[in-house]
Amino acid sequence: MKTSRPIRVRIAPAAIRNNYRLAKQHAPNSRAWAVIKANAYGHGQWRAIDALRDEADGFAVLECENAVALREAGVMQPILLLEGIFSARDVRAVVEHRLTTVIHCPEQLELLVRSGPFAASVSVCLKLNTGMNRLGFTAASLPNALDALRQLPVDITLMTHFAEADGERGVDWQMERFRAMAGDWKGPVSLGNSAAILRHSGAHGDWVRPGIMLYGASPFVDQSAEELGLQSAMTLESAIIGVQEVAAGERVGYGGTFTAERAMRIGVVACGYADGYPRHAPTGTPIAVLGRRTRTVGRVSMDMLACDLTDIPEAGIGAPVTLWGNGLAGKVPADEVAAAAGTIAYELFCAVAPRVPVVLDDTAVEGGR
Ligand SMILES: *Cc1c(COP(=O)(O)O)cnc(C)c1O
Repeated sequence: MKTSRPIRVRIAPAAIRNNYRLAKQHAPNSRAWAVIKANAYGHGQWRAIDALRDEADGFAVLECENAVALREAGVMQPILLLEGIFSARDVRAVVEHRLTTVIHCPEQLELLVRSGPFAASVSVCLKLNTGMNRLGFTAASLPNALDALRQLPVDITLMTHFAEADGERGVDWQMERFRAMAGDWKGPVSLGNSAAILRHSGAHGDWVRPGIMLYGASPFVDQSAEELGLQSAMTLESAIIGVQEVAAGERVGYGGTFTAERAMRIGVVACGYADGYPRHAPTGTPIAVLGRRTRTVGRVSMDMLACDLTDIPEAGIGAPVTLWGNGLAGKVPADEVAAAAGTIAYELFCAVAPRVPVVLDDTAVEGGR
C-alpha cells in the first residue's frame, strides 16, 4: 500500500546486478547460485530475480513450492533447494520441474530413494558436515550415502558450508576435512558463501553461493561494503515528523534512557521497531538527516525514533532521513547500524516490516565493473 506516512524502503536492482558481477569476478572459474532465500534477504524475491534474470547461473531458495513458482514464472536456470526435500511431494516436484536438491541426511536420502525409479536424472547437492555441525553427512555416513545415490540416475555435486569464513579461523580447517571426506571425488563441488568468495580464493568450487554480498552488505566486521566495492541495494528512508527543543537535563523517549547534555534540538523520525528498525539500537546509532550524519537518541519506539538535530538547524519537519543505505538524506551503511544494535545487516534486511512501502530505485546507474 502506498501511504503518505513518509517511510519507504528503496530497492536498487542495478546494485544487485553489480554485486552479482563482483562475485563472479572474485570467482571467475565458478558458476554462482544467487541466494534469494528469505524473500531475497528482505529485498523482494521477484525484484532480485528480475535484476538477475539474464545473468544468474542459478537461484537458491528454501521452499520447494517457491522453486516451482519460479519455474512457473519462466525461470529457466538451475534452482537449488538449500534445505532439500521435506516430503514425497517435494521429490515429485524436484523431478517434474528439474530442481536441484540438497540431500543432507540419511532420512532425506531415503525419501529420495523410495520415490524412485526416475525417468530422468535428478540433480543432487550432497551436503557434507565439515565442522559447521548444522546439516550434512559425516565421514562415517557419507560412503553409504554415495553408494545409495549411485543406484539412482543422479548428477551429484558435493557441497559444504563454512562456519567461519568471515573470521580468524577461516576455511582451511574445513577444506582439509572436505578433501579427506571427498577422497578421489572428481565431480563438481559447491563451496563458497559471500565471505569465502571475497577472501578465500581456494574455497570456491565449481559453484559458489553468494547471498549477503548481492545485497551490498559486508560479511566482515573489519572491511566495509564500500571497501569491498559492493553497492547498497536497500535504503530505508523516512522523514522528520516532529521537532522538540529540550533543555539540558530533559530526558527523551520511553524509559528516559537519554538525558540531554545541553539545550538540544530533537528530531522525531517516522520509523520504529514495527517498521523493522532494531529496537536494540542504542543512543549513538548513526542516521543521516538532510545530507548530514547524526545519531539516534533514546529508545526506539514502535513507530518512531528520535535523533539529534542540534547541529543541523536547517532540518525541520519534512526533512528527509536515511535510516540505512544510500539515500537522498545521506549514506549510512546498514553494517554500521547493525553493529550498533548488536546484530548483522542480514537481520536488519530480513526484518523490514510488510507495512513499509517498497519503491524501486531505477535511477541507480550501473556502476563501473
Ligand atoms: C544462506 C546461505 C548461503 C549464503 O550465505 P551468505 O553469507 O549470505 O553469502 C550460502 N550457502 C548456504 C547453504 C546458505 O544457507
